[in-house]
Amino acid sequence: MDELLNAAWAVAFYGCLGRETVKKIITEALDGLKHDICAGARLSLPVAELAVLRAESLLRVRSSSTLKPVVNATGVVVYTNLGRAPLADEALRAVYEVSGAYSTLEYSLDKGGRGGRNSHVEWLICRMTGAEAALAVNNNAAAVFLALSATAAGREVIVSCGELVEIGDSFRIPEILTFSGAKMKAVGCTNSTNIDDYRTAITEATAVLLKVHPSNYRIDGFVKSTSREELAALASSRDLVFMEDLGSGLLCQLDVPFANREHSVRDCLKAGSGIVTFSGDKLLGGPQIGVIAGSKPLIDKMKRHQLLRALRVDKMTLAAFEATLRIYLSGRQGEIPVIKMIEADKSELLKKARSLCRMLKGSTANLKLPHLKPGDVAVSVVETRDAVGGGAYPTDSLPGFGVEIRASSVRVETLAAGLRTARVPVIAGIRDNSLILHVRTLLPGDEKLIAASFTEVLCTIT
Ligand SMILES: *Cc1c(COP(=O)(O)O)cnc(C)c1O
Repeated sequence: MDELLNAAWAVAFYGCLGRETVKKIITEALDGLKHDICAGARLSLPVAELAVLRAESLLRVRSSSTLKPVVNATGVVVYTNLGRAPLADEALRAVYEVSGAYSTLEYSLDKGGRGGRNSHVEWLICRMTGAEAALAVNNNAAAVFLALSATAAGREVIVSCGELVEIGDSFRIPEILTFSGAKMKAVGCTNSTNIDDYRTAITEATAVLLKVHPSNYRIDGFVKSTSREELAALASSRDLVFMEDLGSGLLCQLDVPFANREHSVRDCLKAGSGIVTFSGDKLLGGPQIGVIAGSKPLIDKMKRHQLLRALRVDKMTLAAFEATLRIYLSGRQGEIPVIKMIEADKSELLKKARSLCRMLKGSTANLKLPHLKPGDVAVSVVETRDAVGGGAYPTDSLPGFGVEIRASSVRVETLAAGLRTARVPVIAGIRDNSLILHVRTLLPGDEKLIAASFTEVLCTIT
């Protein structure tokens, strides 16, 4: 241990980790190695060399941030695992300004005392959606949870069998309903539910008719669901709440051919939804947040609910959300990265793909790579199918362009892994046996980062 701890490569990490932590990390690496040896692993190198390699590699991992920016070259605009929506510059500036100073988070400058955290965004949400009242919480799962807890705890919620969806790998409608204290009553069939199914299921105990956006799947063939208008009329005639979990919250009309497959929050409220819940970081293009919008008496009840304290939004998120909503307010939603990427036109994407292709060719042209033969690596512009993501338009694709990388002597998975683990990670798509860099989801400056990472990979793969 002393030998390792005093070696130059270990001492180099003292600055950022401290000697004690370096020692802990080396111990951890050695323990891992011992464990492998005891488990009968075949060693590729002498133990002493392996120990150094393992320790150094673990020190490198632990000395840099693991939550860091990556280049999204997958063509999926709202990519949950990659952090969903990249924020607009104005939202970033707002976060920076509000977080590095004291702020009006819960302070009213007029009264000189307590103010409302929700007040910064409520009127903006109402303005953009036509809602009477609105409440922002941690995310849409929290919005659904709070809305159901406040309106249906101890009572029944009627929902169509075709809408009992699972989103991501943890949010399931039946479970969230149960957690909220409500009793779920599923009606109809997987592919068909009509208004009479809801009507006959209503009892004294019913509180809510719930509609859920199917988000990540679509049923083909014979499908029948009940319209918002019918559900709203039924709910109102029986004094029930009609609630809708919209998932991706669309605030404006999108300029894409299949735009009318998704309804905006405003459309849903106009059609009679009493309460609508949606995410801030999907189609809306803002930070992770959940919005509950709709009827004032119901929202007021949620504002008084004990759960709100546990689900409330922090100042950085609120700052980013307010700034994002203000971009909509001023009619400049085309400047929001998510909207800009979805609406990008083909000629613009083709230009971007050609420029990326040129850059990749240029940056690798003069490399001396003994392990690669000339012509081993080919880059070319190709057409792609991109996606909106985030549960919106699950079966529609956006025609786009990208750069295909084919390397005859390197497996495509090796290339993809190399790009993922480069100094600036690049997440690419794979099609057939080649790597595709979709340009739709690239942000300004990403082309240069890709070129650098690509060069790094070509220099290090063997
Ligand atoms: C995405 C989604 C959710 C979960 O939203 P989060 O913001 O990730 O909590 C819930 N319901 C639907 C229909 C969704 O699409």
